[in-house]
Amino acid sequence: MLVYATHSGGRYLPIADSLKEQPDGLRNLYINVTNHCNCSCTFCLRQKKHMAEQSTLWYKDGEPSLEEFKAALDAVPWQYFKEIVFCGFGEPTMRLDVLVELLHYVKKLQPQLPTRLNTNGLANLEYGEDITPRFANVLDTISISLNASNAERYYELTRAKYGVQSYEAMLDFAQKAKAYVPNVVLTIVDHVEGPDEIAKCQAICDDRGLTLRVRPYEDH
Ligand code: SF4
Repeated sequence: MLVYATHSGGRYLPIADSLKEQPDGLRNLYINVTNHCNCSCTFCLRQKKHMAEQSTLWYKDGEPSLEEFKAALDAVPWQYFKEIVFCGFGEPTMRLDVLVELLHYVKKLQPQLPTRLNTNGLANLEYGEDITPRFANVLDTISISLNASNAERYYELTRAKYGVQSYEAMLDFAQKAKAYVPNVVLTIVDHVEGPDEIAKCQAICDDRGLTLRVRPYEDH
């Protein structure tokens, strides 16, 4: 499923089904860019092979092309949406060129709608350069998974491909993104860590001038 809406009970619905269930009101449009990821988080549904393969967000027959995404976006009834979120069942920056192209596409299609990227914040490590300038003028909010208050705990939870250095790289990515993205938010999942860990995460964000949001569990 390339684009979808979320509904109670953690369900991902195609747009037509979302409108049947909730004919009125505004909702978010989610864009499922890729199933690939450079982390292997202990809490990620992708780890549970059976669940992943059952999910309508799992691309069993290969990932959609840019043109397929554009066609899906052309068919969206935009009057029912309030935010466009790049998220899904993987790390969107693993397909950076497609992601950036789609950000430009939706901004041209619907300039009044805010855009958000949910990410693990490891793209600069992945590409070996600062990619945050590519988000200038097309991304309104970037939501980065902080996950933990220190590099060791972060690595234990995310099992990131780049090892313990990933934590500092993610924080550096967040700070660099501030130059190009109006809202940079770091997130931590409420039921993965306790109140002490959350307080430490808050202190790290305060030190670096970053915003922390404690959120309920979902991918990223
Ligand atoms: S939770 Fe997000 S960052 Fe972690 S493995 Fe899943 S898709 Fe990747």
